[in-house]
Amino acid sequence: MRRYLIAGNWKMNCGPGRTSELLQGIKELSPQIPEAVDVLVCPPEISLTTASEVLNDYDVYLGAQNVHYEDEGAFTGEVSTGMLKEVGCSYVIIGHSERREYFGETDKTVNAKVIKALLDDLKPVLCVGESLAQRKKEVHKKMVKKQVQAALNSVKENNVSDVVIAYEPIWAIGTGETATPEQAQEMHEMIRSVLSELYDEDAADAIRILYGGSMKPHNAEELLSQPDVDGGLIGGASLKADSFTDIINIAE
Ligand code: PEP
Repeated sequence: MRRYLIAGNWKMNCGPGRTSELLQGIKELSPQIPEAVDVLVCPPEISLTTASEVLNDYDVYLGAQNVHYEDEGAFTGEVSTGMLKEVGCSYVIIGHSERREYFGETDKTVNAKVIKALLDDLKPVLCVGESLAQRKKEVHKKMVKKQVQAALNSVKENNVSDVVIAYEPIWAIGTGETATPEQAQEMHEMIRSVLSELYDEDAADAIRILYGGSMKPHNAEELLSQPDVDGGLIGGASLKADSFTDIINIAE
């Protein structure tokens, strides 16, 4: 039985001050996280320490938005898995389409990061998703299948259940345009069948597949009620305490 995961990707929003305010707001509106739901917030790196202090023993996981695959060294501007764990992270987003598009992330670096995260006990939230042009050309399934296969190359069955996959059609991210529940389910089902081919049915059944792309309180219920949608990776709506907690409560 897969538990829902409601994850907030704050992107380049919220320095330490605003991080503290937003988390206090979430705590006030939802002092008790519903039993059946895991909740994750991913602030910018500069705000992780503050977030960790404010979360304290509140039942919300902390994650980062990126990580490097080396332990340390001359990699200006990067952070390691060890550093993220030191400030209380248990998850890390890997391969977000914005990192692929603007920061040269490739299937190869995504794969190296997924392997490193698992090795060091951080749960990767692996992002995949097609562009609008790919969907129009009807190659979206092929593209996403390829991304999943490449990202999980050499990942062994014994730790693949710690991987979370976020299906995020690029055309739906930050655009207000959402995949229909049917489109989301179709892609999630396809991803699960790829996981089944790569591993086996039990392993595929254990992996959570989140939907991301303009998930909001008004469309969350329909998306989350799809059998293969196990939660959401939420950008814009995770920056408002009331919208984010509404989605958490819908997932309950
Ligand atoms: C995201 O950044 O992963 C995302 C899905 O953003 P939004 O919810 O704003 O579309």
